[in-house]
Amino acid sequence: MKVNHLKHSLSEHYLTILRDERTETEEFRNAANKISILLLAEATKELSVTDKEITTPLKPFVGKEIEKESVAIPVLRAGLGLLDGILNLLPNLSVGYIGVQRNEETSHPEDYYCKLPDLNNKNIFVLEPMLATGGSLSFALSQIKNAGGSHISALCVVSAPEGIKRLEEKHPDITLYTAAIDDSLNENWYIVPGLGDMGDRLFGTI
Ligand code: URA
Repeated sequence: MKVNHLKHSLSEHYLTILRDERTETEEFRNAANKISILLLAEATKELSVTDKEITTPLKPFVGKEIEKESVAIPVLRAGLGLLDGILNLLPNLSVGYIGVQRNEETSHPEDYYCKLPDLNNKNIFVLEPMLATGGSLSFALSQIKNAGGSHISALCVVSAPEGIKRLEEKHPDITLYTAAIDDSLNENWYIVPGLGDMGDRLFGTI
């Protein structure tokens, strides 16, 4: 698996806002939105383009346009915090949703919601801000592949080594874009130092 650890002064700036326990919901959402744009800019650097003949006000010109359609798939609920930036930036985009929960009896992950557009031959961007154990993301990636997806990038804000290891084992074919790789997980599976519960902080449900 390719791991792209984003090194950018802007992402460090906005990540610090996200990590700060004093950051209020609105500012938190804005910072998440900005980081999603930076992650997507990195993840789309080499999307294939084709020539497009246009005419500027001065003369004919051969420009470029993105060749393939894309699909963004936020993993509910925290992934929604990365969606707006992607909707603004990426042309020819459709959106799928996956909600993953742990079955209380078997303790295996299962989806409680899954609505995916056609995934064949699309650039797929899976949005999961906190890569902790990697259980939910790994499950979501399997569902996406079962539905015909390939060419998959995962966009994560903060990743733990444990989650990266799991993805490396289960999904070596994907590319991970992450703004931070933190130290470890605590006994409650929170990333340390992390930023707390991303969903609660995005949606004000603390
Ligand atoms: N999910 C979160 O929101 N935060 C963590 O630290 C880990 C998983």
